[in-house]
Amino acid sequence: MHDEIKSRTRRDIPAVTKVLDALGHYDLPRPVIIDLVRRELASQRRSSKIGAFPELIGRVRTALADLRRTRLHPVINGTGIIIHTNLGRAPLSSDAVEAITEIAANYSNLELDVASGHRGSRGSYLEQNLATLCHAEAATVVNNCAAALVLIARHFAIPDREIIISRGELVQIGGGFRIGEILESAGVKLREVGATNRTSITDYAKAITRNTALILRVHRSNFFMDGFVESAATADMAQLARKRRIPFVVDLGSGALGPIEEISEVENEPTPSLTLKEGADLVCFSGDKLFGGPQAGIIAGKRRFVTALKRDPLFRALRCDKLCLAALQSTVDLHLTGGDVPALSLMRISKDELRARAANIITRLRGLPAQINVGRGTVKVGGGTLPKAVLSSVSIDIVPEEFSVNELAARLRASSPPIIGHIASGTFKLDLRTIFSHQDDLVVDAIRAVCTV
Ligand SMILES: *Cc1c(COP(=O)(O)O)cnc(C)c1O
Repeated sequence: MHDEIKSRTRRDIPAVTKVLDALGHYDLPRPVIIDLVRRELASQRRSSKIGAFPELIGRVRTALADLRRTRLHPVINGTGIIIHTNLGRAPLSSDAVEAITEIAANYSNLELDVASGHRGSRGSYLEQNLATLCHAEAATVVNNCAAALVLIARHFAIPDREIIISRGELVQIGGGFRIGEILESAGVKLREVGATNRTSITDYAKAITRNTALILRVHRSNFFMDGFVESAATADMAQLARKRRIPFVVDLGSGALGPIEEISEVENEPTPSLTLKEGADLVCFSGDKLFGGPQAGIIAGKRRFVTALKRDPLFRALRCDKLCLAALQSTVDLHLTGGDVPALSLMRISKDELRARAANIITRLRGLPAQINVGRGTVKVGGGTLPKAVLSSVSIDIVPEEFSVNELAARLRASSPPIIGHIASGTFKLDLRTIFSHQDDLVVDAIRAVCTV
C-alpha cells in the first residue's frame, strides 16, 4: 500500500522542461539553471516526501537566487573598514581601472620591446618605477605578499637551510593563514628565536649558524603588543646580518608609503624606503592594502637579490598577469605624481564633508517607520594594518520600528547592490567614509525600499 502511494507520487515528478517553463527568465547561463533543476528533481526522487509543484518551483527559485548572490559583484561598503579583505581590499583609482580596460581589450607590449621588435621584459617600466618609489636598487612583483614570502624563503633556504624568525612575529594573517605555516608548507625550516613578547638582538645573534639562510622580520601588522615587550631594532638586525653575511628580509605587509597624517599620531607603518635605508636587503608588501592597488606582492631591495629571485623557476609560477600589471603600473605612477589613490583619499575626507552628506541623506529618509540619526563612526583601516588607529567618522544610524536591526541588515544585504553595514549597541550603522558619495542615492533608495515593505 505504502509503496503504491510512493510510486504514484514519484511518477508525478515533473519533467525538466516543465520546471524551466514555469521559472521564466533568469539572468544565469541556461546550462547552470538546467543543472540546478536536475539536481533538485533528483533529490525529490530520493526523498520520501514529494512536494507539490509550486513548492518545488519555490525551492528552485530560492536556490537560483542564492546562486546568483554568490556571483562576484559590487557591494556598498558601509562598514567603515577601508581595507576590508572580505570586500575586496583596496578600491582602484579610475586611472587603474582605465588601464585595465585598455590592456584587457587590446594586444599590448607585454613582452615586446617595441623599439627593437624583439622580445622585451615583462613589467620593466613598472619595476623601474616601483624601485624609484621605494628608493630601492630594484623591484619586482608576484601574485601577492604570501607568494613573495614563499619565493624568497624557498630561494634562499631550500634545500635544508634555516630562516631565523622571532616567536613574536609568527603572525596569523586573515582567513586562518599563518606566516609560519605558509613558510613551512613551502618546505622551509624555521628557526624560531626569542619569546612571544621579547626577542633581543642577542637572540638572533646566538641562533646564527652555518645553516642560516636568512633573517626574516615580519611586521606585526594586524596586532600590537604592550607591556613587558622588547624587539630588536630593524637597523640592529640589518647590521648583524651584514656582519655575518646573511640576507635580511622584512615582510612589511601593508605597503604604506608614508605617514598618513590624519592617523599618524596613533601609530605609523614602517615604509619600504625607510626599512631599506635601515639596512634591509629586501622588503615585501601587499599591493592591495595601503598601497591601494590590485592584489600583488611587491618585492624591493638589492638588485642582485631581485635579479636572482626573478631567475628562480618558482617566479614563473607566481608571476602577475597583464591586468594586474596594468593596474599596478597606474597605481605606482599615481603615487609618484601625488595623484588620487582611493584607499588613501577615503581616509582624508573631512568630517564636515561627511556630516553634510549625512544631513542630506537623513532629510531624504524622513517619514520612514524607523529612528534615523546621524551617528559617530569609528573607521578602522583594516586589512591587517594599523590595528590601533581609529579614524573618527560619520554614520547613518537606524533602528527600525517594525522589525529588528538584524532583519534590517539582512534586507540591505539583499538589496541590489548589497549594502553592508554593521550593528553596534542595538543600532544598525552605515559609515559614510567607506561609501563613495556617488552611491548616496543608491543608499537612500535602498533604505526607503526595505523600510516600507
Ligand atoms: C597581509 C599580510 C601578508 C599577506 O599578504 P597578501 O598580499 O594578502 O598575500 C603577509 N604578511 C603580512 C605582515 C601581512 O600583513
